[in-house]
Amino acid sequence: MKNTWPKLSANLPGLRRPNHCQACDQFTHKTLELWREHDDNDQPTPIVVCLCHACAEQIINPHPRLYSPIEKNTPVPGAMEDLCTTCVHRADLTCKNPLLKANGGQGLTIITPEPPTTGFWDGCDKSGRRTGGRLVLYSAPAIYCEGNPQAGDKDKLTEEHRRLIQLAREAREQKP
Ligand SMILES: [Zn+2]
Repeated sequence: MKNTWPKLSANLPGLRRPNHCQACDQFTHKTLELWREHDDNDQPTPIVVCLCHACAEQIINPHPRLYSPIEKNTPVPGAMEDLCTTCVHRADLTCKNPLLKANGGQGLTIITPEPPTTGFWDGCDKSGRRTGGRLVLYSAPAIYCEGNPQAGDKDKLTEEHRRLIQLAREAREQKP
């Protein structure tokens, strides 16, 4: 039988909420980090873990399972502090909104105040293998999600953002 490592997402004792550290079980506003969990073949999974910085430093390195940091402000449906904490579609740190593409839907509109900055990185891992990837950086958290339109910083929504929300909705309604 294949050896399976324990998963932080399942084993840590704390609440699984976007504004809460799952390790020390405290609300540690704005020092929280999201980490993506990987499976037994080291492939990324949809599961994320929310930890305060202090706990992440303590447990991520010694933990045998592969965790990768999710860059700050990246929109992660289900785990965005401002938008998901109070949302009815959230289950732990995942989004169950049927519109979400990951849930088989046609797409859920999420607005970030500015488009992300993208880049590439290139390097070597510990064993000398070539590694690299695409970096996408967001300067600020998402301000609107269609699944929980009451949440978020609505004052930051521009006319253009509102038009985009409307266009996305119309495009969806025209699909069979
Ligand atoms: Zn903590």
